Amino acid sequence: MTLRCDVAVVGGGLTGLLAADRLIRAGVDVVLIDTDRAPAAASTRSLGLVAMGWIDSPARLTAGLGEPVARALHEWSARAVGSLRDVALDLGVTWRSTGSLRLALDAVDRDAWHASAGLLTRWGLGGAVRILQDAELRGLAPGSGRLGGVFLQDDAVIDVSGLLTALADRFAAHGGRRLTATVTVEAGSGAPVLVSSDGSRLTAELVVAAAGVSAATLHPFFSSCVYPVRLQALRTVPGVPGDALRVPVLARHRFEAGWSTPDGAVEFVGCRWADQPEMGAGERDDEALSARVSTEQDSWLCTHFGIDVGLVQRWSGIAAYTCDGLPLVGPLPGAPRVLAAVGWSGWGLSLAPRAVDEICAGILGQPTADGHVTPRELTARRLV
Ligand SMILES: Cc1cc2nc3c(=O)[nH]c(=O)nc-3n(C[C@H](O)[C@H](O)[C@H](O)COP(=O)(O)OP(=O)(O)OC[C@H]3O[C@@H](n4cnc5c(N)ncnc54)[C@H](O)[C@@H]3O)c2cc1C
Repeated sequence: MTLRCDVAVVGGGLTGLLAADRLIRAGVDVVLIDTDRAPAAASTRSLGLVAMGWIDSPARLTAGLGEPVARALHEWSARAVGSLRDVALDLGVTWRSTGSLRLALDAVDRDAWHASAGLLTRWGLGGAVRILQDAELRGLAPGSGRLGGVFLQDDAVIDVSGLLTALADRFAAHGGRRLTATVTVEAGSGAPVLVSSDGSRLTAELVVAAAGVSAATLHPFFSSCVYPVRLQALRTVPGVPGDALRVPVLARHRFEAGWSTPDGAVEFVGCRWADQPEMGAGERDDEALSARVSTEQDSWLCTHFGIDVGLVQRWSGIAAYTCDGLPLVGPLPGAPRVLAAVGWSGWGLSLAPRAVDEICAGILGQPTADGHVTPRELTARRLV
């Protein structure tokens, strides 16, 4: 027997849950499909840093893509941050308005971030954005090797695990159907059919592809543009040392990021560059840890924050990166009823919520609340 639904959402991580929750509350007949196969959802491995923007600073994006595009991409991310904050408030999930420190470790990055502070202020994004003076910077980053820093007021930290649970609970409370299955999508111009590994089939009017790194096996389109990257994280024991990283820190095109939790532990993700030669790219084993990454993480925290890492819990997770570093949002070329929401390059919390807003508005036949549409640079169609 073939099951039917209006919308099948594939992926029970943050992106899929946000979409399924939104659609079921709007009265859409939704089925949420999630596999129990590895790798685990990256969402379950996340630190919860909500950091507006992209891997490159606003100034670097402006140099590469021109100011109108760089501005549009930052506005898009700022809307994602606002959207996630609204969801957190609505669900009573902890949202800490910490701001963030964008730390520069070399002169080129310092100059880029100083220019970025001017751009963000001109664009009216990030809240109060300010270049930190030396004394303030020393207070926030007490170790050595930091050359400059910019503070962005609107960034935050969210309780990701609480958010995933609250979204799943609300979806269930609205009668949402869930299937545990690994599916592939057969789609052309007609209604997509989702085929599970046991052969059962589900026909949907539309599919939201929120499958993270496994999108590459969900539909052939993704196989040439989405790839896995293993990220490794750590959490120290509480109270190490005092209040280092009391403001979340992102450094060096986000290769490193971390914060001090309210109980005084430090959580940190980064240094994948130590995993030579591929820097974690191509890795799908989210149980494995790299000894070289662990060593460099400890050294990085010691050098820049004076943290003697000591006893830690370490874990890894697999994030979905794309061939040009930008996400894939909206209809797939040649399969317009499959809507992509994939490829956050390790920073889904400050990107995915806006994709969900735009995709769901399209499904519901409504304009987005602010009337803006997806920049072409983020559409899946840009790759044809
Ligand atoms: C260690 C680590 C720390 C991170 N820290 C941060 C952070 O601080 N801030 C931030 O913004 N981002 C962070 N990220 C990235 C962030 O977690 C991801 O960008 C985001 O969670 C991706 O969510 P998603 O729902 O798109 O994908 P996922 O969470 O990966 O979910 C995809 C889901 O789809 C399911 N699926 C896949 N294929 C199929 C299929 N064929 N059939 C059925 N189901 C399928 C998977 O099982 C999975 O449950 C971190 C990532 C890691 C690994």
